[in-house]
Amino acid sequence: MDQNHTSNSNGMEHTSLPPRFVDVRFPAQWSSDEGRIRRVLAKSVGCQESELGEYRVVRKNLDARKRPVQAVWRFEVAQADGRLPKVHEPDLQLPALSQDAELVYIVGAGPAGLFAALSLIVQGKRPIVLERGQSVRQRRRDLVKITRDHEVDPNSNYCFGEGGAGTYSDGKLYTRSHKRGDIRGVLEWLVHFGADTSILVDAHPHIGTNKLPHIIQRMREAICDAGGQVHFGARLIDVQAVNGALDAVEWEDVATGKRNCNPAKQLILATGHSARDIFELFDTKGWALEAKPFAMGVRIEHPQALIDSIQYHGEERGEALPPAAYRLVCQASGRGVYSFCMCPGGIVAPCATEPEQVVTNGWSPSKRNNPHANSGMVVQMTTDDWEVLGFKGQLGGLAFQRDVERTCWEAAGKSQRAPAQRLLDFLTGDSGRVSKDLPPCSYVPGVVSVNLRELLPDVISDALAAGLRTFGKRMPRFMDRDAILIAPESRTSSPVRIPRDRESLMHPDVAGLYPCGEGGGYAGGILSAALDGMRVADAVHATQKSHP
Ligand SMILES: Cc1cc2nc3c(=O)[nH]c(=O)nc-3n(C[C@H](O)[C@H](O)[C@H](O)COP(=O)(O)OP(=O)(O)OC[C@H]3O[C@@H](n4cnc5c(N)ncnc54)[C@H](O)[C@@H]3O)c2cc1C
Repeated sequence: MDQNHTSNSNGMEHTSLPPRFVDVRFPAQWSSDEGRIRRVLAKSVGCQESELGEYRVVRKNLDARKRPVQAVWRFEVAQADGRLPKVHEPDLQLPALSQDAELVYIVGAGPAGLFAALSLIVQGKRPIVLERGQSVRQRRRDLVKITRDHEVDPNSNYCFGEGGAGTYSDGKLYTRSHKRGDIRGVLEWLVHFGADTSILVDAHPHIGTNKLPHIIQRMREAICDAGGQVHFGARLIDVQAVNGALDAVEWEDVATGKRNCNPAKQLILATGHSARDIFELFDTKGWALEAKPFAMGVRIEHPQALIDSIQYHGEERGEALPPAAYRLVCQASGRGVYSFCMCPGGIVAPCATEPEQVVTNGWSPSKRNNPHANSGMVVQMTTDDWEVLGFKGQLGGLAFQRDVERTCWEAAGKSQRAPAQRLLDFLTGDSGRVSKDLPPCSYVPGVVSVNLRELLPDVISDALAAGLRTFGKRMPRFMDRDAILIAPESRTSSPVRIPRDRESLMHPDVAGLYPCGEGGGYAGGILSAALDGMRVADAVHATQKSHP
């Protein structure tokens, strides 16, 4: 049943006034059986089926705690007159910008930068987006080079390029933010650019790697059609300030090496958590930065059928149930250990942004129909953790990340192959043992058997081992012989925060410069980055209104 489905009343008068929103539970296997769902709904409302007026589904969730797995759907049900109010159709046509529209530079075409651009256009401003990476189409070729030739282009890879780190991802659209109205706004834009309307009602929406590039491309085309600009292969190399205010941006055409310097009064810096050169630029200039805690660990992969069987209590998944996900959290060795960015039916991806490093993350297609389930399994780190290892200062976390990523690259043969170990071997004794062989896994560049207990810093491997043992007690079959750990999962969030004023959202040392999104430390994921982009665009607008 599609979420906009409405069922017409047959003209009978209602004998009771149904409530407007009704939560209904039924076996998830019935999800496509409209007749049965209608009967359950009528019963929940407390009326005869024939008395039901119009209704529609506004939220779809699953409760997999018991067998059979339950669908939990929220319906909006018509009141006495049997009719539902019309669904609010947002007006998402971008206005054409006037010739003299104010220019705002945006660096980074990830979710933060793109949503900032959309919001600026709505406010009548002209965004000029500088993106070091390539368009989604060219970028796809650069990704093939990573997996096939083990060559990482430092400007166009899984993290850099049109759509940012979110383009070739699972496209999970979850956030801890509770601003539901704003979240709906982001989802509506995504639907406008081609995402399935199911994301508006699914409790855990996701889009999938196969669909995201088209959506991102349409978004960019809309920005350009309205009069904005998006430049690919345009890497920001310098930001100039005069008397504490932004004055110019300097960027390099990465194909020709040609440098361009443009006067600029407003700059939204949305360069993501992997733009190490940007953090180094701020450091060199002496502009405020703060070290920020982040989490690090490995990717874990299991057969998807096993995760389905665990999560659905052996119930046949069939068509009605989605490939199962899990979320695990515990305290181990005095710190948080948790699953991160779980990708059912997914692929572990090589996400390095520089040569001589190995980094993993995960993606899934919209159907999540690959045979493996992967997830980050990470340990919360503090600045003290890397300081005792000799990585000091505001960029200490970045240096620590780099060190681990290089160590993994060296250990796996100085290519994009990744060091890996069977889960059970990682947990053998106090110090693990090298796996004699490795099970099949989805990481295309290949894996090399090493003892990750020795390769990763103790602070990570000890807590990870303790955490995994805890998860194994909760979910014994998680300790599967074919579960494999692939290292490292090192880019969970930014290791640095670029501070900004709470009200104006400008950097304290450079008026007119707005740190934004995950790179500044203000987001963690696609949705929250998009929300922050819109928030910063609003701040730019508010500043301009008060200082025209
Ligand atoms: C493989 C993978 C899977 C993921 N899966 C999910 C998921 O399912 N759900 C989810 O919510 N999140 C996921 N994430 C995380 C999510 O993608 C990020 O949280 C989000 O993209 C952050 O948005 P952002 O706009 O702040 O930064 P980014 O998306 O990182 O974008 C920053 C952009 O800035 C550009 N840039 C950097 N430096 C410069 C420069 N000097 N000059 C010009 N441009 C520059 C980069 O090329 C990049 O395009 C995933 C990430 C990866 C890598």
